[in-house]
Amino acid sequence: MIDIFGKGWYNMLLVLILKGATGMDVRVGDVLTMKKKHPCGACEFDVLRSGMDFKLKCRGCGHEVMLPRSKAEKNIRKITRPEADA
Ligand SMILES: [Zn+2]
Repeated sequence: MIDIFGKGWYNMLLVLILKGATGMDVRVGDVLTMKKKHPCGACEFDVLRSGMDFKLKCRGCGHEVMLPRSKAEKNIRKITRPEADA
């Protein structure tokens, strides 16, 4: 067989697939800016727990919510990481 694409292509494809499977890189301590505002008017949330579900705390009223990852990711506008080198 002739290796048309080479190993580099294959690795790149693998990375893309893995990225798609694991979703966005959201970590505890991150601040999420959501597309949809919380009823209190704030749209920024602290990440308390990350995994299959996110536990988020509203920065406006302090309310804590659990969201399935798939649902939360559709809602994320921006991820802010306070400590860039942590
Ligand atoms: Zn709120």
